[in-house]
Amino acid sequence: MLESDQEFNCPYCAAVISIRVDQTGGRRQHFITDCEVCCRPIEVEVDIDTDGYVNFIAKREGEG
Ligand SMILES: [Zn+2]
Repeated sequence: MLESDQEFNCPYCAAVISIRVDQTGGRRQHFITDCEVCCRPIEVEVDIDTDGYVNFIAKREGEG
């Protein structure tokens, strides 16, 4: 299983967004995606542990 779909809530408008995580991109990934609904930039952090469990964090760009 090299790809998995993650669902999360937009940190701005709370819309449910689905994104595909490509696990071949590495265990730690960091990227910006635009919300499909409000078009604001969401900062996404992906952490994949050795069991393939995807730890997914979405936050407003520039926060934390
Ligand atoms: Zn949004």
